Amino acid sequence: MLTALAPVRPSNLAGLASLMAGPRPVHFIAGGTDLLVSGRRLPETGVIVDLSAVAELIGIDCSGADIRIGSATTVASLEAHAGLAARCAALAQAAAECGSVQIRNRATIGGNVANGAAAADLIPVLALVGARLEVMLRGGVRTEIALGDFQPKTGGLITAVVLPGRALLPRSAFAKLGARRDLTISRLNMAATAEFVESRFRALQIVAGALGPRPLRLNRAEEALEGRTLDPDSLRGFMQVLSTEVDAAIPGRASHAWKRRAIRGVGLDLIARLCGLSPRDPVFEEAL
Ligand SMILES: Cc1cc2nc3c(=O)[nH]c(=O)nc-3n(C[C@H](O)[C@H](O)[C@H](O)COP(=O)(O)OP(=O)(O)OC[C@H]3O[C@@H](n4cnc5c(N)ncnc54)[C@H](O)[C@@H]3O)c2cc1C
Repeated sequence: MLTALAPVRPSNLAGLASLMAGPRPVHFIAGGTDLLVSGRRLPETGVIVDLSAVAELIGIDCSGADIRIGSATTVASLEAHAGLAARCAALAQAAAECGSVQIRNRATIGGNVANGAAAADLIPVLALVGARLEVMLRGGVRTEIALGDFQPKTGGLITAVVLPGRALLPRSAFAKLGARRDLTISRLNMAATAEFVESRFRALQIVAGALGPRPLRLNRAEEALEGRTLDPDSLRGFMQVLSTEVDAAIPGRASHAWKRRAIRGVGLDLIARLCGLSPRDPVFEEAL
């Protein structure tokens, strides 16, 4: 038996808020794909609250300037949502590369954020676009915070993830090292957004995951491509700078040597996706 506590399953936010207002500590479970398989000791006191039936926490709203995603929305829903793919392809691509079909059908965006794993696939994309979190605190107080400010241990409930419309550039992409068919957790992942003006990279932003506890912005790699056209020379310069970004991020780590090589391939995959090309396109082959 995993725990002596039977989960409570509210069907709306009001029911959830009243559980949170009670005297006992509340522990959330959404898809359970982190909580139930991590070997963590499950809580033995308080209330386990299953979020999966709370209607207000589920759904993707792309109708406004910002995109609002309920925290209990599954990763499979992110993968399948055409409106989301049109406005933030990187998030749909990252969702499509999370675990297996079975995992994606259970796993939620709120769980990915709250669990806060260095290798999480959705977090680098959310960091890239400056996502904000709507949070409900004990007592029902609602607030909005930056992605990096969420503190899992404080008992706050993430109710939604908001992607600010002003940060959603025409193109974005995600790439990772780790074969999806093997359910590989990312060893390295990258997300990028950019626009192209007269065939040149503009406003390029790149974030890498699994290079430290938090997503890392790769400013030097951005500068290496900014204003340049897609050609083998530009890509070779870009790959060199990517390796130096790893040198600066994880010097002396056991993974340093292979990650400084691996990031070149992930970086090329990322740029290929950003440009809507195959990584087998001659421009990438020539750059190697
Ligand atoms: C085989 C396997 C493969 C996987 N592959 C990947 C992968 O490729 N990429 C990847 O990123 N992840 C992967 N994961 C990890 C996991 O599936 C994701 O992190 C998932 O998004 C977690 O969501 P969940 O709803 O299952 O979280 P849960 O397990 O339900 O919860 C995780 C934590 O978040 C808290 N929590 C959940 N929802 C909220 C909320 N709304 N507010 C506050 N706290 C909350 C819970 O209390 C718990 O502490 C994999 C897991 C497995 C088992």
